[in-house]
Amino acid sequence: MANVYDITIIGGGAAGLFAAATLSSYIKEGNSLNVLLLEKMHRCGLKIGITGKGRCNLTNTKPWNEFSTHIHPKNIFLKNSFYAMGNTGVMEFFEGIGLPLVVERGDRVFPQSMKALDVVAALERHITTGGIEIRKNTPVTKVEHLPDNFIIETESGAKVHSRAVIVATGGMSYPTTGSSGDGYAFAKGLGHKITPCFPSLTALKPKNYREEYHGISLKNVSVQLVVNGDVVQEEFGDLDFTNGGIEGPIGFKVSRKGVHSIINGQKVELRLDMKPAVSLKQLQERIAREAKEVKGDQLKGVLPKLLPARLVKIFLQENKGVSLANLHQALKCWSFPITGYVGYERCVVTAGGVSLQEVSQKTMESKLVKGLFFAGELLDLDGDTGGYNLQIAFSTGAMAARSAITGITR
Ligand SMILES: Cc1cc2nc3c(=O)[nH]c(=O)nc-3n(C[C@H](O)[C@H](O)[C@H](O)COP(=O)(O)OP(=O)(O)OC[C@H]3O[C@@H](n4cnc5c(N)ncnc54)[C@H](O)[C@@H]3O)c2cc1C
Repeated sequence: MANVYDITIIGGGAAGLFAAATLSSYIKEGNSLNVLLLEKMHRCGLKIGITGKGRCNLTNTKPWNEFSTHIHPKNIFLKNSFYAMGNTGVMEFFEGIGLPLVVERGDRVFPQSMKALDVVAALERHITTGGIEIRKNTPVTKVEHLPDNFIIETESGAKVHSRAVIVATGGMSYPTTGSSGDGYAFAKGLGHKITPCFPSLTALKPKNYREEYHGISLKNVSVQLVVNGDVVQEEFGDLDFTNGGIEGPIGFKVSRKGVHSIINGQKVELRLDMKPAVSLKQLQERIAREAKEVKGDQLKGVLPKLLPARLVKIFLQENKGVSLANLHQALKCWSFPITGYVGYERCVVTAGGVSLQEVSQKTMESKLVKGLFFAGELLDLDGDTGGYNLQIAFSTGAMAARSAITGITR
């Protein structure tokens, strides 16, 4: 008879590593458990390594009532997991395993070392010192459910028998880190529905987007997302023009609805207000005052006082009919028709995934297959930027691990 593991985790990313770390803590408390973690790539946590620009914004300290407003599409699904292992729990856990943390602007939490790879190293150390085996370079190709256990097949043809399985294979963003959507096929094969996926926290590409924009950053502007002529979202903050399109903090915020609307064939537009702190009338008055000081071409003389230098020429090219008389209107409503977006190759997160209707929000267990658990980005659950996505992975990973223990010990 082949060795039967109690729990096998598929995927050594944020959710899988945190699930394994939770099981390791349980073993270190003196309990006996036979656990295996299977990771496709040569290293665990490749994506964690690139989070927060290599610094890893691992959670956000906001209380649940605020935190939950950053979770989509159904934040209530996360509530039980968050209450069991929320942001404070995650912070205590990491500090307890020797990873000091700091809180920065926007309640964002980082390792004090500012090194994302330290997060991976701390997790792996905690997992392996609990006696849990991590098998790297081991892509899982198939998950089969038998009446009393699971058979997990790997690329080499090897078969692993396990009483419970936690699928934590991530979404499809940055597939070079290992997350290429394999878990959706496993879930489908076991009878689960997948809510259609799409890239989120990504750049929106304006029509006729030109190279001159690349590298321009705007501070304290506001953006409206307009779908089929209706304003559906408005955000205030910083925005970046990159080689992908419009992104940065507020660009990302509107990207979820923006991409979804484009996929649905709707007409999408971004309207930039370059001066959100003043009313139209106040801006008109300011322009009139500034113009009095200018000798020569008043429009060209006034614009550098109102826009970053690199934007002046582009603004004039893009707003052909603009004059001193209507400049206030053009600055408060600069329209960018959006025709595309940057896909999975460079988006931060995958929206959509394993349908929440068929997973218990109290345990992360499948409602269809006993002993099967899901965690992390693979689920139809995603967050804004600011530490929300890693917290989703940690909370659901911990919940899946605890429920799997309960399942096999009952
Ligand atoms: C550039 C970037 C920056 C980000 N920054 C932040 C941030 O600062 N804060 C934040 O909260 N979120 C951030 N995120 C999002 C966050 O990283 C993810 O939401 C989170 O990592 C998801 O965790 P996961 O475990 O579900 O998936 P992943 O971390 O993607 O892990 C999935 C793992 O499963 C493995 N796997 C896949 N298929 C198989 C298979 N068939 N067999 C075995 N193993 C398999 C993969 O190799 C991978 O190791 C960022 C994302 C990106 C792309």
